[in-house]
Amino acid sequence: YSRYFTITFGANLFVIALVLLLYKKYIYNGMAASAVNDSLTGIFNKGYFDEYLEYEIARTKKKQRPFSLIMLDIDHFKLVNDTYGHNRGDYALTDLAAVVGKMKRNSDVLARVGGEEFMMILSDTELADAARIAERIRKAVDEHSFDEIGRMTVSLGVTEFTQGDDKNSILKRVDSALYRAKANGRNRCEIIGSEENNE
Ligand code: GH3
Ligand code: MG
Ligand code: MG
Repeated sequence: YSRYFTITFGANLFVIALVLLLYKKYIYNGMAASAVNDSLTGIFNKGYFDEYLEYEIARTKKKQRPFSLIMLDIDHFKLVNDTYGHNRGDYALTDLAAVVGKMKRNSDVLARVGGEEFMMILSDTELADAARIAERIRKAVDEHSFDEIGRMTVSLGVTEFTQGDDKNSILKRVDSALYRAKANGRNRCEIIGSEENNE
């Protein structure tokens, strides 16, 4: 009888362990990966960015503190894909996220919000400091050698939260700044402060 007990008990333990293992491998990890992180680059995804931006705006309004926003877009990335292939392009995106991630401070939130578009939320940061960080990022990417591709550059838009802003108005302004960086020749930062409205 005791041997029978040992065998069924052991079999039960085995089944439980197997179920836990499969749960962790296929369900738990899947959930954790898709919630806030971008599956390609590992940095935050657009969903998390949207939520965090709302939180940051609410916090800034209450505490009367500044915050800034940087939008980054790879220059001529379509050409990179066309020349080196989509897989190489994907790898370059991951590499870029790592290069930019190294430049950010602990309190900055970096997210991939589109195919080759990234956003950085800089808490408690005034426009001049955000502009300095954006320029450091631009330079770091410019000087980085991407595997098989070599040189790749980015354009950046920088703005700061101003009185009366909401989510849409600040997003529109940072997008205008990025557009200006593209129009003015790429591989550069453009800054739009509070005194200037959207064009
Ligand atoms: P610009 O300097 O004006 O930004 O030019 P661009 O070519 O970077 O811009 P455009 O918006 O015309 O093209 C973006 C390209 O990014 C199109 C697509 O091939 C590529 N892309 C978008 N998402 C991904 C992705 O997830 N992986 C890869 N490999 N490529 C992507
Ligand atoms: Mg783009
Ligand atoms: Mg682009």
